[in-house]
Amino acid sequence: SETALKAITEGQGGKQDVINKLTEASQSDGDDSTFAQLLKNPFFTAGFGLAALGTAARYGTLGLRRGGELLRRRLLVDLEITRHDESYPWVLNWMTAHYQQQLAPVNAGKGVGMMEYMVHRLTPGLHHLQMKTAVSKTASGSEQTAFALVPGHGKHVLRYRNAFILVNRERIGKSFDVNGQPFETISLTTLYSYRHIFEDIFREAHEMAVQSTEGKTVIYTSRNMSWEQSGQPKRRRPFDSVVLEEGLSNKILGDVREFLDARTWYLDRGIPYRRGYLLHGPPGTGKTSFVQALAGTLDFNIAMLSLSQRGLTDDLLNHLLLNIPARTIVLLEDADAAFSNRRQSDGDGYSGANVTYSGLLNALDGVASAEERIIFMTTNHIDRLDDALIRPGRVDMTVHLGNATEWQMEKLWDRFYGQQDLDGDGKRRFIARAREVGLVDSVSTAALQGLFLYNKDDTEGAIAMVGELAKGVQAQ
Ligand code: ADP
Repeated sequence: SETALKAITEGQGGKQDVINKLTEASQSDGDDSTFAQLLKNPFFTAGFGLAALGTAARYGTLGLRRGGELLRRRLLVDLEITRHDESYPWVLNWMTAHYQQQLAPVNAGKGVGMMEYMVHRLTPGLHHLQMKTAVSKTASGSEQTAFALVPGHGKHVLRYRNAFILVNRERIGKSFDVNGQPFETISLTTLYSYRHIFEDIFREAHEMAVQSTEGKTVIYTSRNMSWEQSGQPKRRRPFDSVVLEEGLSNKILGDVREFLDARTWYLDRGIPYRRGYLLHGPPGTGKTSFVQALAGTLDFNIAMLSLSQRGLTDDLLNHLLLNIPARTIVLLEDADAAFSNRRQSDGDGYSGANVTYSGLLNALDGVASAEERIIFMTTNHIDRLDDALIRPGRVDMTVHLGNATEWQMEKLWDRFYGQQDLDGDGKRRFIARAREVGLVDSVSTAALQGLFLYNKDDTEGAIAMVGELAKGVQAQ
């Protein structure tokens, strides 16, 4: 037993060694000590072994866990983006585009490497997409719908260059922000040594976002208490595609440019840096289109709102005008709606969920920002507006857009038939005919454009239809 104990205290050899030595000792001594007896018992040795294993396993898992944490802390890098950050939609779109690229070889079914296959299998994101639908109203009032698939909530694996990135898009709790949108974050995790790829991802995502709006006009409409991009950005409308009375377009453009150049003048004097315009005239004379063309020329976006829109309250209007996106012209259509509400509420005590006259004035007066604020209002019924609206700071410039003058008819003719009617003979006959049937100053530019569109590339057809158009106008 002594040798055995010595072996134990000296820590020589493994457990089996100790057991062997103990058994040896007991045999040679012929001494049946209880310890030696115990060791001979197979149940005891088995128990001893199990306990040892258990201890090892316990320390082992703890070790693994600690090791895992250490690894995580040392080797992994996380990046979190919250929904409120401007880059959130960019990253989401970038991910969609990236997934589609990744998906392509798998779908093709050819040349799929093991890695791609694994990514495909490991990526629930590919099977869990979310539909993003944007409904937008076109100038003519029809609805356009755009669909986009974005990665859904949950964990996805994404492969970018050589790095695998764990993407986790999650809702945080059950809270919602003021716009009724759930709080959300996207977190990206990758190996520390690949941390530089985050920069590349953001650069790509930003470039994608810029490209999709370059040369385009973003249209915002109100949705859930805030401005939201409506559909895909539209190609900029060329400035001269809207033909106003001679010199009028440039007069308005000049005024806006002057205002934009006078920022310090306003700020130095403590005057709210804003300018209001009122475009009035019959329908189809280019009020809405002109604002679009103007925004395109100035590289501004448009936030569009109709004051006759149902559910638009004074508070909501106020909130929206206080939160206009950067570089955006506000277009408030049907400005007269606010005034007809006043008449109704004066009369029979009506107070629906619509904008009131005082609500509109308050909202306009409240617009204040260090950034420029340009507000265009349109109406078909200027007679319904109150003088209180047409006051500097609310409306600084009032412009009448009327039915097509002879000059506008000629310009529009040139836009449609300039290439064919080189000597202008068709144009002269067209104008003579328009005068004859009393079409000048009595038809809207929209109707005139309609006639030209109908007779695309057909000057004679257009001239022949002048009489019909005049009859249609008189019948109205
Ligand atoms: P409004 O806002 O005055 O009712 P819109 O701008 O919505 O008129 O015009 C309706 C349609 O007619 C658009 O497709 C637009 O391109 C065309 N249109 C109207 N006026 C003009 C104009 N002066 N020049 C060119 N197109 C015009």
